Amino acid sequence: VYEDLRRKEKLAVIGQMATAVAHEIKNPLSALKGFTQLQQEKDKGDDQYYPIMLNEIDRINGIVNDLLILGKPNTAIKKPKKIEEIIQYVISVIDPHAQRKDIDIILDTKDSAVLLCDENQLKQVFINLIKNAMEAMPEGGTVTIRTKTKDNMVEVSVIDEGCGIEPDKLAKLGEPFYTTKQSGNGLGLMVTKKIIEEHGGGIVIDSALGKGTQVTINIPS
Ligand code: ADP
Ligand code: MG
Repeated sequence: VYEDLRRKEKLAVIGQMATAVAHEIKNPLSALKGFTQLQQEKDKGDDQYYPIMLNEIDRINGIVNDLLILGKPNTAIKKPKKIEEIIQYVISVIDPHAQRKDIDIILDTKDSAVLLCDENQLKQVFINLIKNAMEAMPEGGTVTIRTKTKDNMVEVSVIDEGCGIEPDKLAKLGEPFYTTKQSGNGLGLMVTKKIIEEHGGGIVIDSALGKGTQVTINIPS
């Protein structure tokens, strides 16, 4: 019991430090991004490195935002909202990018459900899940998002036809910084899980290697 307490204390301190550092990084990072964009406009002719620089700055920003979400206690501001509208919005943002990768995103809704939820946090959840689904299908394919309501629960599944996950790796998902990707940060599922749990819900991942993955979240309505 003592060891366990010590471990929890250590994790709490690491969490507070991560939050403090993440917070300090945000301002200089946004200055860096702004000046990089300015310089890009000035140097119209020779711009091959700017998109890479801006992309990498966005990547740091993504990690910092994830750390800030993970480090804070429950910050959800819940209001009634139709879950389909949230999903539809996320699809409209991602779709142009998906089309370029030969990926179709389909929303299959049985019945519309109103949820007491933090809209921005749930947007983040669906962005994370759809991005993972797309990254699992480098050759293209279909991402199906299926929503159902049953027994005071709203269930949303994000289904892909991608590479799948090896059975012995399933247990590692959601561990901080666990990633199998070149440019992944291994925080997406952890953030997703935290947000869903703060809504009183849960997340289940089913996967068949080489066939695809289905991530299902349940939120009480
Ligand atoms: P990241 O996407 O940055 O790697 P995540 O936390 O989102 O971090 O995911 C962790 C790992 O889980 C991924 O690197 C990948 O190996 C695996 N994974 C998650 N979603 C899927 C999926 N839909 N298909 C295959 N593998 C997945
Ligand atoms: Mg991810």
